[in-house]
Amino acid sequence: MEPIIFEDVPHKNFRQTVRKFIAKEVIPHALEWEKTRSIPVNLLQKVGEHGFIGLSLPESVGGGNKDFWHEVILAEELARSRVLGWALSILVQSNMVAPLIFQLGNNEQKEKILKPALAGKFYLALAATDPSSGSDLASITTVALLKGKNYILNGEKRYITNGSIANYTVVLARTKTQKDIWALGLFLVPGDARGIKREKLVTVGLKTSDTASICFKDCSISKGSLLGDSTRGFLYLLRGLQRERLIGAVALNSLALYIWEDTLNFLQSRHRFDEALSKKQVIRHRMVELRTTIEAARQFTYLVCDAFAEGKPVDKEILMLKIFSYENCQKIISECVHLHGAEGFLEDHWLSHVRQDSQAFSLAAGTAEIVRDLLAGMFKM
Ligand SMILES: Cc1cc2nc3c(=O)[nH]c(=O)nc-3n(C[C@H](O)[C@H](O)[C@H](O)COP(=O)(O)OP(=O)(O)OC[C@H]3O[C@@H](n4cnc5c(N)ncnc54)[C@H](O)[C@@H]3O)c2cc1C
Repeated sequence: MEPIIFEDVPHKNFRQTVRKFIAKEVIPHALEWEKTRSIPVNLLQKVGEHGFIGLSLPESVGGGNKDFWHEVILAEELARSRVLGWALSILVQSNMVAPLIFQLGNNEQKEKILKPALAGKFYLALAATDPSSGSDLASITTVALLKGKNYILNGEKRYITNGSIANYTVVLARTKTQKDIWALGLFLVPGDARGIKREKLVTVGLKTSDTASICFKDCSISKGSLLGDSTRGFLYLLRGLQRERLIGAVALNSLALYIWEDTLNFLQSRHRFDEALSKKQVIRHRMVELRTTIEAARQFTYLVCDAFAEGKPVDKEILMLKIFSYENCQKIISECVHLHGAEGFLEDHWLSHVRQDSQAFSLAAGTAEIVRDLLAGMFKM
């Protein structure tokens, strides 16, 4: 069962456009890019020229003025690209950072930063995590203290997607010395500001994504770099994270389904003991069980997307999806790799890369433990 809206001509056509783009521009190079840990610099521009970034933002800021279901379709198709690091990079730009700048930025920031970023002219990043506090975001020690007309940034951010390549990074920093969530602000920091040192980290998965550390040493940025209110950064960020988690669930359900389909093809073509592996009872039962969990995750996610698109409160449900869809996808990957036999043990098999990528699913956008704790709090446990 698919949401009826997917049958509309504009949505159907859009899916075909994205699928064609990925089939031509991405999939043929997937393995090479995984090996070289790099993505051609002009790919972002091509993505932007196709109008894939900021689909649901208004045209006035360079967005596509389309409904949220276009974002859903884009995430589903990116997940089938076989280059998940790159997919993450695009989704962070379009579904995490761009909406924050749109909601909080002034006209100048939208014109100078948001518009060209949506056109694919450069990358955006969001730096919240400090190495000193990790999951405990409210305890970050990166500071941005007002001195005359400028904020002076000091501290370090780590594991930041697009961190070493972004032209602008939204940085969460403490604006007052007191240690509570009402003392944090968000700042739009240029990548070439004086006092910044950025370094790409070597990760075991998501190799085509730039995961970086950013150090600030007496980095001076203008007062106008502040996004929104200097004491509400934590709240802005939490709201933005929910959208990222939901889009992440959409992408990972789609990835799970893609892997399941690929595995079924493999099992149908591989003959052992006089018949296709897909005919063996143990295997077909397992495949049916896996497909059932994928459908459960997809249907729940679509329901939440529908409510989210209408502005209904779905915070609990999104956190549930962050657990259910993300962990289900990890399980599907692990089982499908096993069903590929020794083929799935080869370094150059695309599933081997995805398996390494999947370690990050229970870390990024809130770890498995933290998300469970947040939910438990919502249930007043
Ligand atoms: C691929 C990737 C991309 C990322 N991109 C970004 C980005 O763009 N921007 C950004 O700001 N950050 C980003 N992050 C960072 C991510 O948000 C953090 O990794 C995450 O918040 C956890 O912090 P930590 O890694 O320091 O783990 P820690 O907080 O040190 O936790 C270590 C372990 O302890 C557990 N733990 C921590 N606290 C508790 C608790 N109270 N109870 C039980 N268990 C607990 C954790 O679940 C984890 O298993 C990214 C991470 C990854 C892996």
